[in-house]
Amino acid sequence: MPWFAGIERAEINWHPTIDHDRCVKCGMCMNCGKQVYDWTEAGPKVARPMNCIVGCSTCANLCQGKCISFPSLEELRQVYKQRGVWAKVKQELKKEGKIQ
Ligand code: SF4
Ligand code: SF4
Repeated sequence: MPWFAGIERAEINWHPTIDHDRCVKCGMCMNCGKQVYDWTEAGPKVARPMNCIVGCSTCANLCQGKCISFPSLEELRQVYKQRGVWAKVKQELKKEGKIQ
């Protein structure tokens, strides 16, 4: 089940941004399984931002330079609310028998 419940990925503002001045080139961000980053001579580059899983922040948690940030989580939750995402996901989870 797609989390976005009918909303196009491009409509959602969620992707990493790197503060290159603080990047220590530890490479932890390259652990992302969605090929969001490319490695360049200058370090990591956010090459495919829309591949980022909405709400995920694993790379930021692993980042040794603490230099990866994301848009506001509160803004994301507002989108969920306005677009009825929670209700739609709940409906799908019920259909799949994962909740009652
Ligand atoms: S937040 Fe998750 S999906 Fe997005 S780039 Fe980082 S590890 Fe990949
Ligand atoms: S995880 Fe952070 S510090 Fe490490 S290479 Fe990626 S952006 Fe740079």
